[in-house]
Amino acid sequence: MSEVRVRFAPSPTGYLHIGGLRTAVYNYLYAKQNNGKFLLRIEDTDQTRLVEGAIENLIASLQWSGVEIDEGVLMEDGKVVQKGECGPYIQSERLDIYKKYVDQLIEEGHAYYCFCTKERLDNLREGQKMKGQVPRYDGLCRNIPLDEARERIANGEEYVVRLKLPHDRDIKFRDEVRGDIVINTNEMDDQVLMKSDGFPTYHLAVVVDDHLMGITHIVRGEEWLPSTPKHVYLYEAFGWEQPTYVHLPGVLNSDHKKLSKRQGDVSVEDFKGHGYLPEGLVNYLALVGWSPESNEELFTMEELIEQFNVKRVAKTGGVFDKKKLDWVNSHYMKKLSREELGELAFPYMEKAGYVNKEFVENNKEKYLVLMETIQDSLDRLEQAPEQSTFLFEEYKVTEEEAIEQLKGETAPDVIQGLEEALAEVDEIDQEFAKGLMKKVQKAKGVKGKNLFMPARAAMTGNVHGPDLTSIIYLLGKEEILNRLEKAKSYMN
Ligand code: GLU
Repeated sequence: MSEVRVRFAPSPTGYLHIGGLRTAVYNYLYAKQNNGKFLLRIEDTDQTRLVEGAIENLIASLQWSGVEIDEGVLMEDGKVVQKGECGPYIQSERLDIYKKYVDQLIEEGHAYYCFCTKERLDNLREGQKMKGQVPRYDGLCRNIPLDEARERIANGEEYVVRLKLPHDRDIKFRDEVRGDIVINTNEMDDQVLMKSDGFPTYHLAVVVDDHLMGITHIVRGEEWLPSTPKHVYLYEAFGWEQPTYVHLPGVLNSDHKKLSKRQGDVSVEDFKGHGYLPEGLVNYLALVGWSPESNEELFTMEELIEQFNVKRVAKTGGVFDKKKLDWVNSHYMKKLSREELGELAFPYMEKAGYVNKEFVENNKEKYLVLMETIQDSLDRLEQAPEQSTFLFEEYKVTEEEAIEQLKGETAPDVIQGLEEALAEVDEIDQEFAKGLMKKVQKAKGVKGKNLFMPARAAMTGNVHGPDLTSIIYLLGKEEILNRLEKAKSYMN
C-alpha cells in the first residue's frame, strides 16, 4: 500500500471558515491515523478573489488549532515558506505546469479551444433559462479543426480551453460517504479548463495537482461533489489513477442552511476571539458530521486520531450548536492550570480595564487565586471579566434577595462579627481568609445560611457567586471594611 497523502486546499479569500477547519481536521486525522502526510496547498487561481494576508491567516488558524502541516505551504518565523518535493504548492506559481497538461489534453482530443464571446455565452444562457433548460455550453467550438483554432490564436483572438466530454457516457465513481455515484455526460457541461487570462480553472488545477502531489484521498466539502464527475473524467483522460473520494456533509445553522458570515461568527478567528480554546473548538467540530462509536464526546486530538472513522461520517449536514460547543469548551477550560488560565484570560481582563501587566506582576498570587475562583464558571475566556465583577466593579447592592438578606435578623451580628475579627489583623492572608467565617460563627453563635447569606450579600452585594473564602482573600481587609460600612445602610 502506498503512503496516505491528503491535502487541505483552501482559496486565500479571507479567513478560515469553521467548516473549512473541520475539513482540515478530518484530513489531518485521517492522515495521522494512517501514518500519512497532510499537505497544505493554496488554490489561488481566481485572482479576483485574493485577499492580502489571507495565506498567513489560514496557516496561523491551522497552527492555533493544532493541525500540523507536513508538506506544502507553511509558516516559519512568521514567513510563508514552501516545503516538499512536489512544489510549488501555490497554484499561481504552477501556470506552466497546467499549460503543459492542457496542451496534452488538446493534442489528444480531450479538450478544445473555444472562442465564444461573453455576449454569445450570456445570450445562450438567457435563452436556455427562458426555455426552462439547465444553462450549458452548446458545443459550438467543439469541432473547429485544431489547425484553424491555432491560426485564430496566432491572430490574437481570445480563447478559453474546454473539456471535450464524450456524449452519453456514464461516469462512475465511489464516494466513501455517499457510496457509488453515476452521472451521464449528457447531464454535464464542457467545463472551461483554462481561462482567457492563462489561469487554469479549479477543475483542471485540482486534478493536475492532486495527481502530481500524489494525493491518495480527497477529503473535502460536499459542495464539490457535483464537480467530481468532471474530475473523474479528467483522471481517465490523462490515464491517471483515481484517488479515493470522501465528501463531507455541510456545517449548518439552526435553519439547516449553510453557516454563513451573514448570520454571525463563522471564522476560526471569531471563535478564537470569543475565547474558545483550540482543543474545545476542534473537539466540537469533529463531532459535527462524525459520530464516534461510543457515547463518549470529549476527545483530545490524539484521541480523535485514534477514534475517527471515515465510515461513520454522516451523509447529511450537521447543525452547529453553540451551546454544545460551550459545553465541550468548558471541559477544556477546567483542565487549564491557574497559570495557563491567567495568561489566556489576561487580554480579556485587560480589555475590560480590570488589570494590566503591572497589576498582575505585583499581585501574582491574588490574580491566580481569582483565576482559580472563576475557572469553573467559564465556558470561554471572554467570560472572565464578567465573572470578576465582584472584585473590580464598584460595590453596590441592587439584587432584591441581597437586600433582603441585609435586612434579615442576623445581618447586624454577622457584620459586627466580621468587623471584630478583621480588627485583629493588618492584612488578610489565605490562612486567615479560610478561618474568618468560623471565627464569626463562634463569636456570634450564628451559623449556616443565617451566617453565610448575609456575609456574602454584605461583601459582594449578591447572594450567589464564587467561593466565599476566595472572595475574602481577594477583596482584602480595607475593601471588606468599606463594603461592610456601605452594607449597613441597607439594614433595618
Ligand atoms: N479550493 C477549494 C476550496 O476553496 C478546494 C476544493 C477541494 O478540496 O477540492 O474549498
